[in-house]
Amino acid sequence: MPYDPAYDEEEKQDTSSEEAGQARRFKDFECPECAANNPYDDGFGDGDDVLCYYCGQEFRAQVSDSGRLKLKVI
Ligand SMILES: [Zn+2]
Repeated sequence: MPYDPAYDEEEKQDTSSEEAGQARRFKDFECPECAANNPYDDGFGDGDDVLCYYCGQEFRAQVSDSGRLKLKVI
């Protein structure tokens, strides 16, 4: 088994992160500020802004080539 760099990310998605890459869409995210889980029914992807419903912090989603999600505080 090769080391999977996306192993520590959420693996709930049906789509393989390696196949989707930067075009990967996410259905939820864990807030880096308050650790709350925020479901996003419409989905979001690279370059989208997301809002934590719990603490009100806004983030810009950045998806790497390997499909890893990073959230930057706006
Ligand atoms: Zn939050």
